[in-house]
Amino acid sequence: MSFRLFDLNDPQRHAVTTTEGPLLILAGAGTGKTRVITFRIGYMLSQGIEAASILAVTFTNKAANEMRERLMAMLGKEKAGKVTMSTFHALCMRILRQDIEKLGYKKNFTIYDEGDQTGLLKKIITRTVAIGEKMEPNVAKSLISKAKNNGWNAPQEEKTLIGAIFARYQADLKQLNAVDFDDLLLLTVKLLAEHADVRQRWQKRFRYVMVDEFQDTNRLQLELVGYLAKRDDGTPPNVAVVGDDDQSIYGWRGAEVSNILEFETHFPNPTVVKLEQNYRSTNSILNTANTLIKNNPRRRPKQLWSGKGDGDKVRLVMAPNDHEEADFIAGEIAKRKAEGNLRYEDFAVLFRMNAQARSLEQAFQEKGVPYRIIGGKSFFDSREVKDVLSYFACTLNADNDAALLRIINTPPRGISEATVQKALELSIKEKCSLFQALQKEELHQGITPRAVTAIHEFMTQLDAWETKLNEPLVNQPEVLRKIIDESGYYDDLRRSCKNGDEALKRESNIRDLVGGFERYLEKSDGGLSGFLDAMALRQDKDDDDKEKGTGVTLITLHASKGLEFPHCYLVGLEEGVLPHDRSKLEGTLDEERRLLYVGITRAQQTLTMTYCYSRFRYGGSIPCTPSSFIKELDPDLIERIDLKKLMNTPVADTAVKSRFAAMRAALETGGGR
Ligand code: ATP
Ligand code: MG
Repeated sequence: MSFRLFDLNDPQRHAVTTTEGPLLILAGAGTGKTRVITFRIGYMLSQGIEAASILAVTFTNKAANEMRERLMAMLGKEKAGKVTMSTFHALCMRILRQDIEKLGYKKNFTIYDEGDQTGLLKKIITRTVAIGEKMEPNVAKSLISKAKNNGWNAPQEEKTLIGAIFARYQADLKQLNAVDFDDLLLLTVKLLAEHADVRQRWQKRFRYVMVDEFQDTNRLQLELVGYLAKRDDGTPPNVAVVGDDDQSIYGWRGAEVSNILEFETHFPNPTVVKLEQNYRSTNSILNTANTLIKNNPRRRPKQLWSGKGDGDKVRLVMAPNDHEEADFIAGEIAKRKAEGNLRYEDFAVLFRMNAQARSLEQAFQEKGVPYRIIGGKSFFDSREVKDVLSYFACTLNADNDAALLRIINTPPRGISEATVQKALELSIKEKCSLFQALQKEELHQGITPRAVTAIHEFMTQLDAWETKLNEPLVNQPEVLRKIIDESGYYDDLRRSCKNGDEALKRESNIRDLVGGFERYLEKSDGGLSGFLDAMALRQDKDDDDKEKGTGVTLITLHASKGLEFPHCYLVGLEEGVLPHDRSKLEGTLDEERRLLYVGITRAQQTLTMTYCYSRFRYGGSIPCTPSSFIKELDPDLIERIDLKKLMNTPVADTAVKSRFAAMRAALETGGGR
């Protein structure tokens, strides 16, 4: 076992070796909070604490995976594998899969992602609004989500339009045996609150609970941690949380910094540890971050310092527009990589909004610089991936209404929208699944004989696929490939694509998906249902780990939390972008400042920030004003560079001369290059 307590400073070691009772680690960026969690797990195991009794929760799949990898490197696969490292959502899924029946859902419930939610809400809104009333599905979605995250149930009395929509939405979800992401949390908390047997079982299972990035927990997540960690018998909870109030960036999702600032009220008499040495960044970078965050009111003041020296000044580059901004970055990274003997993986470009990725991607492609995007949801949002996942889900279990609805007429097989509607109504009336309703005499009497035949053929096909999939020792990925072939899905996909390129891309997405299942089977014994769960959860957040590929990381500021890169570019420091337009209306300027703080503190060795004089937005080029945050930075730490001037300046005489001198010297020594 290779974990060493002397790789920690004093307060870190204190935190690592305090294993019993509540522990609060409140510390700034890059001070080793996440490292403390991993080491603490290692220490616990060395003390004979059982791996299976340890739970570590984080926010993103990426963070959970990274922690698992660090732990494996430290302790070996076998031991590390028994520790539960999970996102909140995956943990809830696991708890609900076991006991959701106690809440009146069926065990094989489906997860509705945002697209599914919007679809359902659209239908409900059409059914619900009176003449003259109006409600946007996306507005309804976010209001409902806010309500759920506050722990509110759907109203009994439908006094307002949104209340009525909320109530119907919740009822329909239940009817479809589906839950949305907010429900995962809400229902788990409800389950643990109302069922002491379930609660105690999990309390017994997890004797030690740890939460990274605790500043981003919302009320429900805090409650969940409480139910898991507090003991019904009153012994002090073994709960350790780490967080940084300056990095709270999920206020819009209901996160409450007060959870960390008032930790003591929820878990009395905690050991409190402060970490102040930053091990990540140079002082130029760290102090730039410090001067910025000082402008936020209501924060716990911190004294962060780094032993890494001053390093290069932080650069602030002004570009004429977003294309030149992107070109400059792609070009410079290629150059720095070659000259500095660096890897593309040493660089990251951080941005506020997904739309900013487009010009960056283009520039990277043009210059042949490999990159990977984290934060874009393109892969899992694509319809072919969703369709094919629905095929898999239906093969596994045809009672999955949401999945069946998606593929019942894709490709077209003569089952009309009207028939489906009738079947749905029957399923609601009879409280059965759509699949069962489709087989009922009562339905068949009301539709054409051709439709009955079409239904019959499809049901027979689903049955046959299910049988094949469940044959003993069968190669499931292979079977699934055949199923997609046989379904005629590819032909339909090709027909519906604008051109051959698009068709190829979509087909290759499908192959990637099956390949993903193969890889999943190698690492896990969850089978197809485990894979489908993992896929559903993956669509959740900003992190798409599918592209483990190599290259420069293009990443949203939100997704960059907890990560670090040697060289960072932080783009689009303009009013309206960062701080975002919305923040002014919503009074969340402080949160935007924290977001920039998170971005700056990702950089280890160099940081370049950029802004443009004009940017392509809302379908046209609009002039930009530099971000008001720039004024808050310490000018002594920053070097300003005007890209336009830089490009128009001829190479200085001295530079030319010295280049000739170098060439001559090389020739004289006969060294060639
Ligand atoms: P963030 O606030 O961004 O989540 P963090 O507080 O979780 O940061 P870590 O990611 O754990 O910080 O650590 C930052 C970097 O410092 C990592 O590269 C880590 O390995 C290194 N580090 C932390 N503590 C030490 C130490 N005692 N000795 C050497 N390196 C350390
Ligand atoms: Mg961290």
